Amino acid sequence: MAPQRRGRRTVAKAGRPKRRPTRAPGLPPKTVLAIFDTLDHQHPNADTELHYRNPYELLVATILSAQSTDARVNIVTPPLFERYPSAAALAKATTAELEPQIRASGFFRAKSRSLLGMATALVQRHGGEVPATMEALVELPGVGRKTANVVLGHALGVPGLPVDRHVVRVANRIGLVHSDNPEVIETQLCAQLPPDRWTRASDVLILHGRRICRPKPLCDRCQVRVWCAYFKALRPKGARRAKFDALRPPARKAPAARAEPSAKALGVGPQRRKERIASLRAPERERAGVGPREQKKGRRRT
Ligand code: SF4
Repeated sequence: MAPQRRGRRTVAKAGRPKRRPTRAPGLPPKTVLAIFDTLDHQHPNADTELHYRNPYELLVATILSAQSTDARVNIVTPPLFERYPSAAALAKATTAELEPQIRASGFFRAKSRSLLGMATALVQRHGGEVPATMEALVELPGVGRKTANVVLGHALGVPGLPVDRHVVRVANRIGLVHSDNPEVIETQLCAQLPPDRWTRASDVLILHGRRICRPKPLCDRCQVRVWCAYFKALRPKGARRAKFDALRPPARKAPAARAEPSAKALGVGPQRRKERIASLRAPERERAGVGPREQKKGRRRT
């Protein structure tokens, strides 16, 4: 039997988890799903804003997007992809050729080295194709977990949850996670959602962080504030609940009940109204604005 170490670093015993649980405490699974359903509803078009046609182009664009904006990268990439349409073509370039073409994306010296290293590694290790595993992607120069998850989730159909500064801020504010470490956040969020929702979850958190939950948040426009720990903490002590609740999203209204037609509208006296409703045939019922239920009721009473 393997010896058990004692002291501060306790070895896991039978029945005890070896590692600390990665799921953030406090938010029940139903609430987590309600939060992401609501964010999906608030940001229906959430997706990466980088322009690409294949995994190679998305990989290049994502490397260029570090410390830059997607809009700026989308200006740089079309002529770049025209000149270097594949990893094999890019691997033959030199930094002197590449740097002027990507200068507008910022940090162009470091990025040109990353792009050349990445393209060369793709050619040498993967036959010029972008691999579809996290392990292989993070081995490429200039590719971290965030970039790998973007490419996996958006271009390769493999579930991935990219964590950027917006995801860090929004997920912590809501109370979905409790960490500043992107890798821990990724693990905690992934543990709370089914894999087929990971990429979309990242997209909506990013868009929510850009549009609503900015560094100075616009809570009055936010549809998930009822669950948000940050928003709840803003409520001043002793503040009247009604005032606070005024910021909640309005409850959905039940559809208005269909009014039965009046006796006058049916052209009969009040005594014969139910009878007349019951005697209407389907097209007539439709024109008169009554359903089969009202007709049934009318029949029972007659
Ligand atoms: S309520 Fe405010 S802090 Fe909370 S997620 Fe919405 S915008 Fe961000």
